[in-house]
Amino acid sequence: MYRPIRASIRISAIRHNFGVARRHAGNARLWAVIKANAYGHGLLRVAAVLGDLADGFALLDIEDALTLRDSGVDKPILLLEGCFSTADMQVAAARGLSVVVHQPEQVRLLAAIRPAAPVPVFLKLNSGMNRLGFPLSRCRDVLQSLRELPQVGSITLMTHFAQADDELGIAEPLARFRQASEGLGLPLSLANSATLLRFPEAGGDWSRPGIMLYGGSPMPRLASAASLGLEPAMTLSSTLIAVQEISAGEHVGYGGLYRAPQARRVGIVACGYADGYPRHAPTGTPILVAGQRTATLGRVSMDMLAADITDIPGAGIGSPVVLWGEGLAADEVADAAGTISYELFCALAPRVPVVTV
Ligand SMILES: *Cc1c(COP(=O)(O)O)cnc(C)c1O
Repeated sequence: MYRPIRASIRISAIRHNFGVARRHAGNARLWAVIKANAYGHGLLRVAAVLGDLADGFALLDIEDALTLRDSGVDKPILLLEGCFSTADMQVAAARGLSVVVHQPEQVRLLAAIRPAAPVPVFLKLNSGMNRLGFPLSRCRDVLQSLRELPQVGSITLMTHFAQADDELGIAEPLARFRQASEGLGLPLSLANSATLLRFPEAGGDWSRPGIMLYGGSPMPRLASAASLGLEPAMTLSSTLIAVQEISAGEHVGYGGLYRAPQARRVGIVACGYADGYPRHAPTGTPILVAGQRTATLGRVSMDMLAADITDIPGAGIGSPVVLWGEGLAADEVADAAGTISYELFCALAPRVPVVTV
């Protein structure tokens, strides 16, 4: 007996969303970012769906990169955090991976290997995120040391903007990045989804869309996914497995967090935090029952949650429920739960069956 919960991944939506990225990218080539199991959508599934459209795939884990190569992907693959050991650098070179170099140790790893062919390098510069990357002021001397290494092939300069998705934007860090890289004549890689959608004029030669491919808005406070022309790729659905009729003053769920002001019909949904639904989603988080929008009630349990079906008289045991996806943007659910769609998608639990539609 299977529980009724499942995640449906719509191939046509991922392809459509890639088309939106392509339209914003001008002449830039596109890395489809498929880190974290393609944001929960399935590494090999998304690689296959975008195999003919993407110019390459960007991810973190070298094991995932090798899985792609073993499955026949012969396009460029970029390791977004580069390599962590000489052995991995050697393997990356042998399998034709491109590597980010963001700190001096990684220059030493390159110097230590003897690859059959030079390794394409993405030299990562820190434009203000203060996470990964060399200071902009060191761009030229790191470049010099990379150029002295026969192990290094093409070099692309890369940065990742900290505030492409909020009011501040990218003008100031972009100006500093441009100044640091001026006159070097090297290809650039600048844009994540937010940069691509909001500041396509930033340009660059390789853009790196992630969340938009899956139909999440990279800046939900500024623009909904629908207004950006994006379609939801993942629909998390389930059904009602029980109905409770409660009177005024009764409570729902652990801790009795929700107290009914009047009589209510409560639908119990087969979906809980062990499926990846956020436990901190409060009463009032939007949910679709029998195609109608309503609200969750009380605390999310491990395997179940409750929805108000008082105003959906036709709803009963077996009625379809959408937790997020088609008809209910993941961004709205995420916002109610104090997070972002990225986290909802990545948290989808392995126990949830995933089907491709
Ligand atoms: C994850 C990531 C991206 C994609 O970001 P989105 O906001 O999902 O588009 C791009 N570049 C780097 C370096 C990343 O780590």
